[in-house]
Amino acid sequence: MADIVPELLELISQKFDERTVESQKLKTAVEHLMANEATYVDANNFAIEVGNILSDIFEETIDASVLPDGRMYYNIADRILNPTMAKNHELITGYAMDVQKNLNKKAGLHLKPQIPELNQSRIDGIVNRISSEADFDVIKWILGDPIVTFSQSVVDDSIKANADFQSRAGLQPIITRKLKGKACKWCRALAGAYDYSELPKEIYQRHDNCRCTIEYDPGDGKRKTIPSRKNNPGKNKKIESRKKIGIKKPAEN
Ligand SMILES: [Zn+2]
Repeated sequence: MADIVPELLELISQKFDERTVESQKLKTAVEHLMANEATYVDANNFAIEVGNILSDIFEETIDASVLPDGRMYYNIADRILNPTMAKNHELITGYAMDVQKNLNKKAGLHLKPQIPELNQSRIDGIVNRISSEADFDVIKWILGDPIVTFSQSVVDDSIKANADFQSRAGLQPIITRKLKGKACKWCRALAGAYDYSELPKEIYQRHDNCRCTIEYDPGDGKRKTIPSRKNNPGKNKKIESRKKIGIKKPAEN
């Protein structure tokens, strides 16, 4: 049987270029960027759209009838998903980097925007799962929303990389997670604004179909000031700089 991958990749890439150029949502996101108004909410919208476009194209171009034995063997999944998902990563980190540049500028920070590495294990997870199934029809859902979730996680990874970096530089990043749509109990419990030092472990995690937004604001760009002993004479007093100011904890339920 002839190798279907080169032709399939060509088709996917051609459709992808067409759709991304035509997309009104991507146009809007770019306009916000040009106006220096873009935030990570725009980056999240950008990622959802890029993810939707790719997953729609997978649905249109791949079905059991084009696959040998109606199965997506490992060597096909590996060669289709790696370049296409890596391209999503590249586009989304590019956009997120420009957002971060803009946020830094507004906060008067002369810090380089950080770019997260490609999360290869997320791609490997999908490749392994899809190729483990003998019948493509049983597993094709994985090329739907999980592709969008992967794309959103690129934005989340960008936020994490920049918040980590700025915290190490002595700043006080604040991360805000907001609900979107019909949020589940888990998401409702996670929503809120957090000081970097008090981030819940799951702050960047998502379930499929989770459209919550995670935002990051460098704040006023001021560095943390640790109170000196003179200003803070109390014995064994905890360093006050770690106290959160006006930060809401997520509702406990
Ligand atoms: Zn959610």
